[in-house]
Amino acid sequence: MPDENPVTLIAIVEDEPSISEVVSLYLNRAGYQVQLYPDGLAAQKAFSLKVPDLIILDVMLPGMDGFALTRSLRDHSDVPILMLTSRREESDRIAGLELGADDYVVKPFSPQELVSRVRAVLRRIAKDEKNKTAAPVTFPSLSVDPQTRIVVARGQEVLLTAKEFDMLYHLVRHPRQVFSRDQLLESIWGISEFIDPSTVTVHIRRLREKIEIDPANPAHLQTVWGVGYKFEP
Ligand code: CA
Repeated sequence: MPDENPVTLIAIVEDEPSISEVVSLYLNRAGYQVQLYPDGLAAQKAFSLKVPDLIILDVMLPGMDGFALTRSLRDHSDVPILMLTSRREESDRIAGLELGADDYVVKPFSPQELVSRVRAVLRRIAKDEKNKTAAPVTFPSLSVDPQTRIVVARGQEVLLTAKEFDMLYHLVRHPRQVFSRDQLLESIWGISEFIDPSTVTVHIRRLREKIEIDPANPAHLQTVWGVGYKFEP
């Protein structure tokens, strides 16, 4: 957060100057340092030398699009990525999240909304840092360790994205407690007002595919119809 860390560096990868300049202005005002990249390849090259604290990434870019850049970044970094999409199709937003983007904003957006989303992502990161000193949660068929971020399901290590891990850890820490999608957005994304609740659905589905024996009939990550989700040990 800017108050605690005056050198929080945010990279904006966006080929439309009208957007990147406004976003940059608002982020500067909010106390962040900003770097602009007009195309995906230039950004990829710069990030291989120095990874910023957060990346605002447009999907449609010349050279290398936002999806390809996310894929290449996730090979070596868990830098938070906030994706900008001009398309309203859910499939595009889901594609971004499945590739490991932390959040997305649909164009047109208000710069204030974007700044609050950036703050929320950075708040979550700060919370994750605190979780690193928290205790592992262990059940007979599942263990979740917030310090190493290692998840073991039935003896097998499972690879989760940052948000998948956060959601699982939140649910296993409160066994049998039911959380609504808004509550999960609030706890894991740090914000609920601007995020599509289907984001939660996507993450739950991915988690089931990774930790359940039969993802279609989940034993652990259960849906409570009309209310939300719970973890059943
Ligand atoms: Ca664009």
